[in-house]
Amino acid sequence: MPHLPTADPYLPHHGDPSWHAVHYDLDLEYDLVGNRLSGTAVITVEALTDLDRLVLDLAHLQVKKVTVDGRQPAKHAHRQHRLVVSLRDRIRAGERATVTVKYAGKPHPLVLRHHGDAGWEELTDGVIVAGQPHGAPTWFPCNDRADDKAAYTISVSTAANYTVVANGTLVRRTRHGSGETWTYQQVEPMPPYLATVQIGRYALIELDSAGRVPIHAAVPDSARADFDASFGRQGEMMACFERLFGPYPFPAYTVVVTDDELEIPLESQSLSTFGRNFLTGEWEQVRLVAHELAHQWFGNAVTMRRLQDIWLHEGFACYAEWLWAEDGGYRSADAWAAHHHARLDGLRKDLLLADPGPDLMFDDRVYKRGALTLHALRGELGDDAFFGLLRTWVARYAGGSADTADFEALAAEVAGRPLTGLFDAWLRRKELPALT
Ligand SMILES: [Zn+2]
Repeated sequence: MPHLPTADPYLPHHGDPSWHAVHYDLDLEYDLVGNRLSGTAVITVEALTDLDRLVLDLAHLQVKKVTVDGRQPAKHAHRQHRLVVSLRDRIRAGERATVTVKYAGKPHPLVLRHHGDAGWEELTDGVIVAGQPHGAPTWFPCNDRADDKAAYTISVSTAANYTVVANGTLVRRTRHGSGETWTYQQVEPMPPYLATVQIGRYALIELDSAGRVPIHAAVPDSARADFDASFGRQGEMMACFERLFGPYPFPAYTVVVTDDELEIPLESQSLSTFGRNFLTGEWEQVRLVAHELAHQWFGNAVTMRRLQDIWLHEGFACYAEWLWAEDGGYRSADAWAAHHHARLDGLRKDLLLADPGPDLMFDDRVYKRGALTLHALRGELGDDAFFGLLRTWVARYAGGSADTADFEALAAEVAGRPLTGLFDAWLRRKELPALT
């Protein structure tokens, strides 16, 4: 299949820039014992150019049937994680069509050279879906681009003694025989990589949110006693971030704690997932509780247009850790900035923050140098203008995508003067600028 599109050079052979997904309706059935997933995806497609074919991303699962507006297409072929649908009738730019894909198989993570493995993964007793950055095609056919946001309905049927958590709001829960169907609706636009399903023997609990945002947790019974050590101040943290970043951008927030240990936590839209090893209450874990919550503003509401702009997610979420340290009475952001500046100074300086390359996009130096960039900007602007900038950033771009140039332009707008020198030094040079 020659000439298949790549939407983002950091993620070869994923995504198609010629169409936009408006809505995904995913109806999934999952057998936990046999790790068997069968699904029907109904995708509302909008053509961005005249289309005589549609390319979707779908990995490891077998396509059973494809229809376009209820009719069989000319043909479809599925190879190397791409589903190519040749259309009987051309879809003109700006027009919409409904593509239905029935599929089934044994889902498992997709391994990529630069990015490791991501996607639908079996736990000891349940499922975790870690989509970032290339895992979405392991469980539904999609246009796998960070800059293509859609609304979702995700419906999962599985054994009745399990809890299913997905993005957005639980709108229906129906028991049938030994099974149960959980239906979630995600209204706020979301890219495929932030879509998720979490299945486990979890108790659903309501946390004391101390504010306007409902906060839930899905926790194994055996981990309930330890939960508060790391998550006891989640409501307070939410209030702090709403004050600094503006209103929490989704109707509710859910924390999932898996019974398995996980190497790192992960963010999805409107929820975050942690392993049970993150419950000791040490700063190394509490900082990640802050980090994942901050991604709801920086990464999920406002999403990078291209993966090279990852510092707009990770630098901001890392800086939020220091802000929580300051507000929560642990340690000042100044002290964290000095600490990490000294550490970075001792490491190799071969990374460009504005374009780290796919190998280094999740390198810890992207996180820390990104946070230091914001700290330097805060020093330059003063607190009022700096936090005003963060709130305007979210208010202006929530629900959409943005890039580094957008952030620099907004910062200059807020400052009332260009800040090219500061951004050049931190983003586009390899040497580490001094912290003033
Ligand atoms: Zn992160």
